[in-house]
This record gives sequence, structure tokens and C-alpha cells, in this order.
Amino acid sequence: MRIAEGHHPITVDSTTLTRSDLVAAAGAVSGALDSISRVAVLATPTMETVLAVAGALRAGVEVVPVPSDAGSAELAHILADAQPQAWLGAAPADSHGRPVLPVDVDARSAAVEVDVPAEQVAFVLYTSGTTGAPKGVLLSHGAIIAGLDALAEAWAWTSHDVLAHGLPLFHVHGLILGVLGPLRTGSGLIHTGKPTPEAYARASASGATMFFGVPTVWSRIAAAPEQAAALRSARLLVSGSAGLPVPVFERILQLTGHEVAERYGMSETLITVATRADGVRRAGWVGVPVNGVETRLRDEAGAEVPHDGESIGRLEVRGDTLFSGYLNRPEATSETRTSDGWFRTGDVAVIDADGLHRIVGRESVDLIKSGGYRVGAGEIEASLLGHPAVLEVAVVGVPDEDLGQRIVAFVVPATGVSGSDELADKLTAYVGDELSAHKRPRAIVFTDALPRNEMGKVQKKRLTR
Ligand code: ATP
Ligand code: MG
Repeated sequence: MRIAEGHHPITVDSTTLTRSDLVAAAGAVSGALDSISRVAVLATPTMETVLAVAGALRAGVEVVPVPSDAGSAELAHILADAQPQAWLGAAPADSHGRPVLPVDVDARSAAVEVDVPAEQVAFVLYTSGTTGAPKGVLLSHGAIIAGLDALAEAWAWTSHDVLAHGLPLFHVHGLILGVLGPLRTGSGLIHTGKPTPEAYARASASGATMFFGVPTVWSRIAAAPEQAAALRSARLLVSGSAGLPVPVFERILQLTGHEVAERYGMSETLITVATRADGVRRAGWVGVPVNGVETRLRDEAGAEVPHDGESIGRLEVRGDTLFSGYLNRPEATSETRTSDGWFRTGDVAVIDADGLHRIVGRESVDLIKSGGYRVGAGEIEASLLGHPAVLEVAVVGVPDEDLGQRIVAFVVPATGVSGSDELADKLTAYVGDELSAHKRPRAIVFTDALPRNEMGKVQKKRLTR
């Protein structure tokens, strides 16, 4: 992937490189990768990580981004599965016997870029492991370029923009969109190290025009009016990786004057559905398929589900941004394909007549089958979030002999409110009034915090155990 020319430098944490210095420094990395075909990169939020990834991709070397906070079991799983030949840049304390090839931010080389075929693997990228052990997703150069070009079109993302975010660099969001996006579009980048409201406000003062965040980041900004106001000058605020709660969307609109553009994707599909810069913004909806991507809804028997803005179906995707398969998992790979070649996302969604998508959630955890009804956990969560006593909520289905599954809501009470049987009864009745009797939680469990990973995804399997 060619690093586009641009007007703005790339800053990661506190290191800044002009684009020409970045190209020359990445060239020096590429030049040192002779006879290597796959490297692991400990993806700390640093310039070393950016140069390691850019240098390896230019040389046609496959990159395995390793979460910088990976525990010993996760690290061992990734290394045994992906078998990288070396570490490039930083390495963990236990390098698992692999050599460490250093990355020097100050080195420069005019090494020419290798012409890499579109179908060649660029990344073995591990999923978040929300539903099971992380799977190694094989992403080709062609899929990444298609995905980034489609997003650039949807968001009118150009070399005049400066993107700011503080996301981790080992998933699609922070690494592919958040680092390769600026390299491909020619926009500047300010990686803030940590995604705090203060850091985002500072980036805005330094001229950032676009901001990326996961919902937790936006909800922290929504709770920091002074810092949020600094984002008024932005062009586009984007949320993804998990659903953005409607109250957060509304609060950010009040404070910044911007409706957050939500988008949806997965490691396996990159970003498939996005709110366009010039498109309709609707709280709770994630936009329309990007260029080169098609979506459809199917029921359990494989029959078409209408795009009527109401009917829930399994979301399936086809197009240029799809992965090439899971590493070492041919069966898991073929299970994801329908007989006519579409990819099953595992998520359930609603599509309206204009093609706008709403993500109901994961079929395995967010679609609750209770007493003969199919109920989306997200709808009940949205309803409960509308109650002033509720700060955060996660709704799950737990096995029940009588109902099949029983609806249980884990609730973090609002500041100054404490959980009680009385409040539980009130919340249950509230859902009954707002939605319908069969959508009422059978139990409310009050808790101080929901188990989330670093991407802000609620670890529901930890709640149902
Ligand atoms: P694993 O596949 O290992 O269980 P994971 O699915 O969380 O982990 P990712 O590929 O990082 O790993 O995340 C993709 C998932 O994130 C999607 O399938 C979807 O459930 C969720 N997601 C992403 N964006 C959104 C969004 N805007 N709204 C709701 N859910 C989203
Ligand atoms: Mg997944």
C-alpha cells in the first residue's frame, strides 16, 4: 500500500514525522526484512508500531499485530497459531524464542516499494475474542485498499483532513482505519496515546478535523462538557466497534453540534456499513453499505427478510472488503459462507427501505429467545437507558427451563442512585410500559460496572456464566 502524499505530518503519542520522513523511515524497515515472510508486531501506540507495520507491508511481509496488553495465555495462543518468524520493533518480555528486529525511528532509506499482488495477505489480525478464542483473520492487501478507499469516499476523507484518536493499534479500528487510513488518504494523524476527553480537546486545538472513538470514549466526552465543546470545530465524529447508546449520541450533539456518524464492521469484513458524511444521521443506526459492499437479511431457514425498518434478520455481506479466511481454521472459514457465497456476520440487524442499517447485536448473545418470542437485547437496553436511574445496562438471556431463556438486565445505577428491590420493580414496569410485557426483564442485577474490553465491548459471556 502506497503512502500517499499529504500536507500534514503523522504524530503518534509524542513523536512526529513528516510524510517524506515517514516514507524513508518505513523504507529502512522494509530494507531489513530480507528472507522474512511473517512478523509479529507488539502493537503499542507508538511510532515504532506505525513504522513496523508500514515497513512490513511495503516489503510484502505479513504482519501479526499482537495486543500490547496480551496476557501470557493470549500471547502464547497467537504465536503458536500464527508462527511469526520474528518480532519487528518492540517485543514482550517473553519473546517466545523469536529474534527481535529493531525499528529505528531515525533511520532513513530510499528502498523502493515492492509491487504486492492484491490477493497477498497483509495481516493476520486477531478478533477481539468476545465470543470465543481470538481467531486469526487473513486480510489481503486488496481488501484493505478497497475498504479504505470506500471509507474515504463515504466520509469525504482527504489529504486536507487531520484524523485524531487514541485507539489501540491491534484491531481494525485503530490500526487499519486509524493508521493506514491516514497513510492511504494523505490525511494527517494525531494519535493521542490515550483516548481521554482532554487529549481529544488538545488534538482539536491542534487542527484535527476527524475523530474516531469507541462508545466508551464518546460517553466519557459526553460527561466532559468543556472538552466536548472543543470538538465543535471538527468536521466529522465517528463511532464504532460496539453500539453507541442513543443518550450519548444526543448529549454529544448538544455539546458539540455534531451528530456522531456511526459505522459497523468486523475484523472479517472491515467496515461494511457506514453513516456517510453527506448522509442521513439517525441515532442508533449505522448507515448504508459502503462502495463495493452489498448486504442482505436472512431468516434461520435462509429465506429473505424484508428491508422494512422493523424485521430482524441475520446480516450477510458480500464484496471487496471480505477476509480471505481464518488462519488454520478451514472449517470455521467454510461455516461463515452461505452456499451462494455470502459471508454470515453472526450479527442480527434491521434494514429500512432507504438501506439504513440498525445492528440488533450478536445472534448468539443478543438475540434472546424467551417464551416463544425473539427479543433483541439492544431494544431493552435502549429502553432502560431512557430511565434516569440507569447509567449503563447490559441485557442477556440466561437458560430457563420454562421459557427457554429468561431476560436478565445488569444495571449500573446513575450517580447517587443505589440499587434496591423497589428500583428493580420500577425498571421492570418501565420496560413493560415502553415496550411490551414479554420484553420485561425477569430479573435486574445491580452492579458497579459492566465487564468491558479495551474496545468498549461488553463481555456478555462473563455475565451469563
Ligand atoms: P470474536 O469474533 O472473537 O468474538 P469480536 O466479534 O468482538 O470478537 P471484532 O471483529 O473486533 O471481534 O468485532 C466485530 C463485532 O463488533 C461485530 O460483529 C459486531 O457485533 C460489533 N460491532 C462493530 N461495530 C458495531 C456497531 N457500530 N454497533 C454494534 N455492534 C458493532
Ligand atoms: Mg466476531
